[in-house]
Amino acid sequence: MSEVKQIVKELNDKLFMSDSHEYDYFCYLEYTETPIGDFIKYYGQVIWDSENDYREYAEDTDDQREDMKGYLIKEISKIANVLQKSSDAVKEVKYYPLGVCPECQGTLKESGYTWQCDSCEFNTPEGDVE
Ligand SMILES: [Zn+2]
Repeated sequence: MSEVKQIVKELNDKLFMSDSHEYDYFCYLEYTETPIGDFIKYYGQVIWDSENDYREYAEDTDDQREDMKGYLIKEISKIANVLQKSSDAVKEVKYYPLGVCPECQGTLKESGYTWQCDSCEFNTPEGDVE
């Protein structure tokens, strides 16, 4: 097994222990070999490929790349941070997931920037739906 594949396997073992599989999604590194080069994906994003190695060169050298394991960890963390920020961003958005009126259990219909109940007077204030 190549050194890179070995690193991917090691990190995937760690990711598997993260318990994220308790949710509906589980993230792991995907190593794919193709005739035009190999690549590594995380959460659907290509984070490394053998043809365009994105790793930085070590200081004062032009042939020694940064450590592969460190690079992959950095990219995983970057994507995890993006996901966390995305989660924070949508937390503020009010929504009525089942389209059910909280007053009478009638059906909410989207109407412009508000939700209106089709059985009672309930409708969400304009500012609540963005
Ligand atoms: Zn209602």
